[in-house]
Amino acid sequence: MDSDACPICGGSGYILTEENGIEMAVRCKCLKRKIEQNRLRFANIPTGFCEYKLQNFSLSGYRERESRECITAACKAIKIYLDRFEDMRSAGLGLYFYSRTKGSGKTRMAASIANELLERGEQVKFATSSHILKEIKDTWRNDSEYSESRLLDQLSIAEILIIDDFGTEKPVDWINDKFYHIINERYIAKKITIFTSNMPINQLDYDDRITNRIKERTYAIAFPEESIREVIAEKNKAEMIRAISE
Ligand SMILES: [Zn+2]
Repeated sequence: MDSDACPICGGSGYILTEENGIEMAVRCKCLKRKIEQNRLRFANIPTGFCEYKLQNFSLSGYRERESRECITAACKAIKIYLDRFEDMRSAGLGLYFYSRTKGSGKTRMAASIANELLERGEQVKFATSSHILKEIKDTWRNDSEYSESRLLDQLSIAEILIIDDFGTEKPVDWINDKFYHIINERYIAKKITIFTSNMPINQLDYDDRITNRIKERTYAIAFPEESIREVIAEKNKAEMIRAISE
């Protein structure tokens, strides 16, 4: 027997128990742990984003009044969305966060939602647009038209997909085709996609087949035109200085 095998189930992943005189197999702790690890690996949330939580999404980083109003409205809409998540799921409705300004909190919010949904036990996948395109390019270069990359398969099958920084690349034909493939598969299967982008849906350069599906299946939510990266960096610095001088 494998020496690494679980001592409780002997590595089978199941334990036999008896309930009301009926013998049945239940999942061992080691199998539950393995499933959880696979779910986290599949999600592929960047390490730096793992601590982003809805509870610690700070609104005080925005200095402009307009930005605060904008982020307050966004948070309200997101709360309603998450409270009614089962309805959103059956309608296949996702979210589309946009603002021209980098560092306005879109990615941070998308990652916070991803972490929240993961905690609820959902299957989530996080990918940046540039990473997806890089994988597509690799597939294309290898002339492996008939075998989609593993990432592309995962993007189509993931129950909830986050595409970060969507719409930044020049929409040449093959990019349009591949994005259409992913978005259309998800559209047909009514799977939820959450986008972040630095432009509104109607200003995306992708072809109408893509933008129409996104329009139909997401709530577009505007984010402030203000970067909070600087503020967060200053705050972190201040906290660090305080910590080392204590
Ligand atoms: Zn076990």
